[in-house]
Amino acid sequence: MISPSNRAENISYAIREVVVYAKELERKGIEVLKLNIGDPIAYDFDTPQHIKDALYEAAENGYNGYAPSEGYEELRKEIANRERRRNGMDYDVDDICITTGVTEALQIFLAATLNEGDELLVPGPTYPQYNLITSFHGAKPVPYATIEEEGWQPDIEDMRKKINERTKGMVIINPNNPTGALYPPKIVKEMVDIAAEHDIVVISDEIYDDIVFEGRHHSTASLAKDAPIITFNGFSKVYLVPGWRMGYAIFNDADGKMEKIKNAFLRIARSRLCSPSICQVAMISALKGSQEHIAEMVKKLKERRDYAYRRLTEMEGISTSKPDGAFYIFPKIERNVWKNDKEFVLDVLNEAHVLLVHGSGFCPVYGKGHFRAVILPPIETMEEAFNRMDVFMKRRLAE
Ligand code: PLP
Repeated sequence: MISPSNRAENISYAIREVVVYAKELERKGIEVLKLNIGDPIAYDFDTPQHIKDALYEAAENGYNGYAPSEGYEELRKEIANRERRRNGMDYDVDDICITTGVTEALQIFLAATLNEGDELLVPGPTYPQYNLITSFHGAKPVPYATIEEEGWQPDIEDMRKKINERTKGMVIINPNNPTGALYPPKIVKEMVDIAAEHDIVVISDEIYDDIVFEGRHHSTASLAKDAPIITFNGFSKVYLVPGWRMGYAIFNDADGKMEKIKNAFLRIARSRLCSPSICQVAMISALKGSQEHIAEMVKKLKERRDYAYRRLTEMEGISTSKPDGAFYIFPKIERNVWKNDKEFVLDVLNEAHVLLVHGSGFCPVYGKGHFRAVILPPIETMEEAFNRMDVFMKRRLAE
């Protein structure tokens, strides 16, 4: 046997790993209702036609070669325009780098920033990549608490306590995956102030910025224009093109504190050549064209959020906080019938044939005892899934 690297040992991605178990059932001809993956295209959402047309035209028009490593300037200009319109920010195109999804932006940024032994403050619970990639570089993800009873808002005091001389950065995911929490400007500002006090960089993941049901999302950099902040954003969710792998990173760095990190980021970006050229050209049209699909999507998701919230609140042995944005709900398993949340999720899969993701996959400390479901499916699909779960819960809790 030829051995793999030690650093690959701990790479495991809960959201996709549960699929392996579901596939086993499907091989036996059992229909599994999947509430596990944050991909709107897997349900009844579709990429707007003008964006699909733009991709085809880009290929026809010869955009089939490599793109610049930092991305086409015209796309970066459109992103700067969006930032001006939406967030009142005044970025230069050179502050922006196009990446192969937000996932690649965070992979490059953490590779450019973290040394072995460094620590990165991550929300507890978090989008798992922040834990995986931090550990991959021999650094340590340190979760700060978010408070379920307060709609999963960050615990500022906990965050403050967890900063030490090894802390290199702080991750804010707003709206959050997996909890759906939207943070008010005051809280975000407090978080950035703490980071500034300790000279650490703020990583702000805003991939769900336009998917908000109540209130308004404020970009982190717009609340603290002087602080060193890297913003990650992308097209997967809001523009309904997750498979096209289009994201970007924006450096907000008035005092030049991140200059060396930015250079390292761009060196790594050059070493991976570029992100897909035709998709970049299509994203120019996505930003310039009709934005109508966003309001339609949010309206549909809000109805689905309300339905999921009601059904899960009524379900025996389950309680849940109401998500304000994104497309997830993160309920708590109230009764201790199962050894852990993974056992719960596997039992739901094997007995009710509904696929969820275990909460500990998003944070072993603050995610455990929970599960994540997406609120993306049509109400009829969710109705069937929650009916099956209802029967399952009643049976198991009566045993
Ligand atoms: N960041 C967050 C918070 C996410 O939830 C996701 C996907 O679920 C991503 C990043 C990945 O986005 P992308 O498709 O742009 O890689």
